[in-house]
Amino acid sequence: MILKDKVILITGASRGIGKSIAVNAAKEGAITIVNYANNREMAEEVVNEITSSGGVAKSFQANVAIKDEVDKMVDDVFNEFNRIDVLINNAGIIRDNLLLTMEPEDWNDVINTNLGGLFNCTKAVAKYMMMKKSGKIINMTSIAAERGGKGQSNYAASKGGVNAFTRAIAMELAAKKITVNAISPGVIETDMSETVIRRAKDKILSTVALKRFGTPEDIAKVAIFLASDDSGYITGEIIHVDGGFRN
Ligand code: NAP
Repeated sequence: MILKDKVILITGASRGIGKSIAVNAAKEGAITIVNYANNREMAEEVVNEITSSGGVAKSFQANVAIKDEVDKMVDDVFNEFNRIDVLINNAGIIRDNLLLTMEPEDWNDVINTNLGGLFNCTKAVAKYMMMKKSGKIINMTSIAAERGGKGQSNYAASKGGVNAFTRAIAMELAAKKITVNAISPGVIETDMSETVIRRAKDKILSTVALKRFGTPEDIAKVAIFLASDDSGYITGEIIHVDGGFRN
């Protein structure tokens, strides 16, 4: 069990990629904190799935875009578990629209959640990791950061910011023995990608060398490696997990 007794906080773990990371981290012995924004019921289902198989998990509501909610969640987790070994900044949203029809709310919501959330969570958790002089931070970025995509200017800009933030914070926190990396998924089968897969399945698959969409488990396996001591000499990296995406 490569995460035995590590306290791992995963944002956006009620569904999709975050859920898979939570369930698989618990199988590796982690004490798993399941964050969610709205879907309390689904978050509780994730917790039940873990605890009914003998794992340890607890859910915490917090909108990552709201600093006070994040600070409270992180303080509560620390007070209850006495440390946070791993932070996985996974929560994210899309609000696709072409530039001229994109409302300011679509821009702000995506930037504030995908990038602002990263700032709020990383800042709140890094304080405790620095006290312990150890920690691992893993950010969920996207191939959209490098390749763009029509109707995704807000999302691509937010994920480009995630990449830059990852590299900068990795340098800043290295002295405290905290590593910071990002995973860049291709198209993974979750609620987020459902519409795009339904509309353009064949077109997307023609750009994926392995000729299949990714699964949340494909991402979870890499997240668990990065969260474990096995990744000790990796920091500031963007790891692509996209089945060989080329377009
Ligand atoms: P998803 O299935 O739509 O799930 C999103 C998760 O994020 C849910 O647990 C949701 O909680 C949570 N969330 C959303 N806004 C939040 C907020 N403000 N505060 C806290 N939690 C919030 O998404 P996914 O496909 O698993 O994506 C996970 C991450 O991978 C995202 O960062 C996404 O950008 C990235 N990614 C996904 C793909 C893909 O193809 N799926 C590709 C590249 C990158 P509730 O259930 O409470 O709403």
